[in-house]
Amino acid sequence: MDLKKRDCPLILRDVDALRRAVAGWRADGEIIALTPTMGALHAGHVSLVEMAKRHASRVVMSIFVNPTQFAAGEDFGAYPRSFEADVAAFGAAGGDIVFAPAVEAMYGAGFATAIHVAGPALVGLEDRTRPTHFSGVATVVAKLLNQCRPDIAVFGEKDYQQLKVIARLARDLDLDVKILAAPTLREKDGLALSSRNVYLAPAERAAAPALYGALVACAAAIRAGVGLDVALEDARRAVAKAGFIIDYVEARNAETLEPLRGVTDDPIRLLAAARLGKTRLIDNIAV
Ligand code: AMP
Repeated sequence: MDLKKRDCPLILRDVDALRRAVAGWRADGEIIALTPTMGALHAGHVSLVEMAKRHASRVVMSIFVNPTQFAAGEDFGAYPRSFEADVAAFGAAGGDIVFAPAVEAMYGAGFATAIHVAGPALVGLEDRTRPTHFSGVATVVAKLLNQCRPDIAVFGEKDYQQLKVIARLARDLDLDVKILAAPTLREKDGLALSSRNVYLAPAERAAAPALYGALVACAAAIRAGVGLDVALEDARRAVAKAGFIIDYVEARNAETLEPLRGVTDDPIRLLAAARLGKTRLIDNIAV
């Protein structure tokens, strides 16, 4: 296989081919980064590749819509898919390999193993409405890390609870990989880029930035000395007024994601999930 720099990424669908390519790079002393995604790439994903390129000489992107992290009734079947455009965007960003396994290759006949997650996966945020989600995420990420064996793996702060679950997974299972966190890329009006934003009807798209706006105002209020409960109630009111049905708007310890106890010097993260029509949006910011 030609492992020199290519103009367009190599597309690999099976683990053995990926392992051979990565082993070739490793023999040449290259530093390898993995950016796991579910495709439908936007500029936020591209920023992950750019961060990966600052820390590694080769970048693999996995594109895999992972069925085990979707519950029945969620959008697995409808999840946006744009493989050719994704490969082009990854290539333009300087990426080397797209790893896009079939579902049957990841979960073969008789597949019977899942990672049990607690700690930051069990704090009453995403897990409150999606109780099986992080086990599915942890299992697929563990597989991808083991298949690719990168030196580093880049995840977005956009999915902040996921980032903490994966950092915990890597520590707890002694995975020999450095987990890097990339900041959330936003539209000019503040809406966090998300593959699911394409679901928003025009009026919903116009209302959507209110979620981020409420978090920014809440963080400013907390920094100005307003009590947490009051600041959070104001944020919830603003989010509901914009037309969202709220799953949660919470202030948590930024590391453990545990609820805050009284006045604290701990770093604080504000996290929110809310639905506009059929679309569920999540966002988070530091205080
Ligand atoms: P997904 O394909 O949505 O599972 O996301 C793949 C990776 O991209 C995850 O690590 C996400 O946190 C990250 N990501 C998604 N949206 C953004 C964004 N707006 N800015 C930065 N990273 C993002």
